[in-house]
Amino acid sequence: MSKLAFIDEKLNELKEQGVYRTLPINYGPCTNVINLNGKEVINLSSNNYLGLANHPRVKKASQDAIEKYGVGAGSVRTIVGNQDLLEILEDLLAEFKHEEAVMCFQSGLNCNIGTIQAITDKGDLIISDALNHASIIDGVRLSKADRAVYKHNDMEDLERILKEKRHDYNNVLIITDGVFSMDGDLAPLPEIVKLAKTYKALTYVDDAHGSGVLGKSGRGTVDHFKLHGEIDFIVGTLSKAIGVVGGYVATKKNVKEWLLHRARPLLFSTALPPAATAATIESVKILMETESYTEKLWENANYFKQALKAFGFNIGISETPITPVMIGEEAKTMAFSKALLEEGVFVSGIVFPTVAKGKGRCRVMISASHTKEDLDKAIAAFERVGKKLDVI
Ligand SMILES: *Cc1c(COP(=O)(O)O)cnc(C)c1O
Repeated sequence: MSKLAFIDEKLNELKEQGVYRTLPINYGPCTNVINLNGKEVINLSSNNYLGLANHPRVKKASQDAIEKYGVGAGSVRTIVGNQDLLEILEDLLAEFKHEEAVMCFQSGLNCNIGTIQAITDKGDLIISDALNHASIIDGVRLSKADRAVYKHNDMEDLERILKEKRHDYNNVLIITDGVFSMDGDLAPLPEIVKLAKTYKALTYVDDAHGSGVLGKSGRGTVDHFKLHGEIDFIVGTLSKAIGVVGGYVATKKNVKEWLLHRARPLLFSTALPPAATAATIESVKILMETESYTEKLWENANYFKQALKAFGFNIGISETPITPVMIGEEAKTMAFSKALLEEGVFVSGIVFPTVAKGKGRCRVMISASHTKEDLDKAIAAFERVGKKLDVI
């Protein structure tokens, strides 16, 4: 028997549970309409919220950077990988976010993994929302600090933990997503800041789905709640609304200095490629020039959500362009997604274990790049499939 037969057993388990997957192939750019597995479909599943992944100015900036800098940074940042483009990007992001300093990483996941471990130590406590993103959970696992989890967005539960445990620890760090990716709801940041003040705790907001979406021109959830200067660590991604790849933490200058010495993705993994950094600089510049992209995103999201609600779909508690169309049972959710695909609309079905059992949903991601025609076609497909499968 093969030494790796145990992997086959695991794969078979997945197949028996009906959660085994193969990857769909996108044969072109990630835009409003894509060629998925050879079929043209309306794309309602990307995080390219503002369409910047294909913006002519962003593509040009990337091409120019390749001409000037080549394609690879050649090293980690702490050796010779710190190309001037990264410094330019960090200064620009700090200005955009109205924060003292920004440190960039190769991705949002890398940023969480590197930062959480570097800023916490033995004798500290991390208190994390139950629905925080996997990259936060991994970052917390790498830390030497103790950990506690509060019920999702439940401020009473958070205060209970603070009351019980605060005096046993040196630093306490409260971590939350700014926007929760599966339901599209927001963290109650004003209440979290208040509790953090009362109990002398630090605050950490991962705003991956808020960056480029909420606040003035997409400055994020902290800007949305007018809490500048009140959050100690604001994480953002450059891979979603900004349209490229990378992650960053906006914080104080001394934290940035410390990360340079202790954040392991900066020390042990090659820096972002120049084409990505240059593209990101251009994306952020575009957001600083105009609010038209974020306005279009919200206009599209409101239009779509209104239409689905009018048909009687349950779209949960979303406060953002993330629109979870709640179906419930796992098999029915996947059948719904499949039927939409047959209608030429791609929406990924999301089921247990990504969300709780019985809370399956088809999660629609609206973008500024969708035309009214795309949205109307998608709405009509939802109506047909919803009726056929007895969801509405
Ligand atoms: C997507 C996401 C990340 C990861 O960002 P990448 O740049 O894709 O690595 C981190 N945190 C949250 C909350 C996310 O939604």
